[in-house]
Amino acid sequence: AADADVEVRRDPVATADGTPIEVAANAGTEADVRAAVEHGADGIGLFRTEFLFLDQSSPPTEDEQYDVYREALAAFPDGRVVVRTLDVGGDKPVDYLDRPESENPFLGERGVRRSLGPDADLFETQLRALLRAAGDADGGRLSVMVPLVSTVEEVDAATETLDSVAADLDADGVSNARPEFGVMVETPAAAFLAEDLLDRVDFLSVGTNDLAQYVMAAARGDERVAGLRDYRQPAVLRAIEATVAAAAGTDAWVGICGEMAGDPDLTPLLVGLGFDELSVSPPAVPQIKRAVAETTRSDARELARRALAAATKQEVTEILDASR
Ligand code: PEP
Ligand code: MG
Repeated sequence: AADADVEVRRDPVATADGTPIEVAANAGTEADVRAAVEHGADGIGLFRTEFLFLDQSSPPTEDEQYDVYREALAAFPDGRVVVRTLDVGGDKPVDYLDRPESENPFLGERGVRRSLGPDADLFETQLRALLRAAGDADGGRLSVMVPLVSTVEEVDAATETLDSVAADLDADGVSNARPEFGVMVETPAAAFLAEDLLDRVDFLSVGTNDLAQYVMAAARGDERVAGLRDYRQPAVLRAIEATVAAAAGTDAWVGICGEMAGDPDLTPLLVGLGFDELSVSPPAVPQIKRAVAETTRSDARELARRALAAATKQEVTEILDASR
């Protein structure tokens, strides 16, 4: 929960020993983008675009989307706005798009699987709007991120679509620019493939809400298995570590945009694991900025090393509690 007493800082923060860490905000509406600015976020680390498709009877047009992306960029003239392409299916149904539901929606056609399949036309329209917005932005940098990746082929196919959309816009003389391109790490497959994904993208962003669900085989929203779907589970921490470690020494940056990032008690652990960016709900930004500034990276690395060596959630919890 957000602490109203924490001072809003508009400047970027670094750890006590000088490592800059970007603290961005998650947004699921245009109001969230404004809230992110108010709370001093450095940018938007996850712009969920499902809201554009919900509560209406047909998909938004390219121009409608373009306006929303331009506005988000305008809100962060010195920052980065990471827009996630449409992530429907699973826990995010959209009535008019829905196809016969698979028996297990979380393991069915969701996220990028739909964008490369039945929703390919929506994906192209969204990318057109995004590339145009990137071309017309004055200041803010746009990044595009695809959800629920589990194979290298998906990344290659998404990149091909991006290339062909850019070529079409160029051929039509429409102003556009190539955004930074990344993928979410939300499946164990993506964590195992992190190195190969990094050969193809500019950044990775770990979505721990889904990653914890899939690593632990414990459904989101099912309270009976909430103890399994916990960030302190060693298996979840090790999947995260595999991702961050793969990026070390590359030019890519790695962020985290799952809810885990918004818990200030976990900030030293996340800094110690090596994240470059933490993306959290707008009201949590001031607390997380403060927690970063109070963290010493060398101590945090030692904390992460010990947490990763723990075999049980109980041990991880004790290690984290003892460090406070
Ligand atoms: C996640 O899965 O951690 C994530 C950030 O995406 P969403 O919560 O929108 O599924
Ligand atoms: Mg997700």
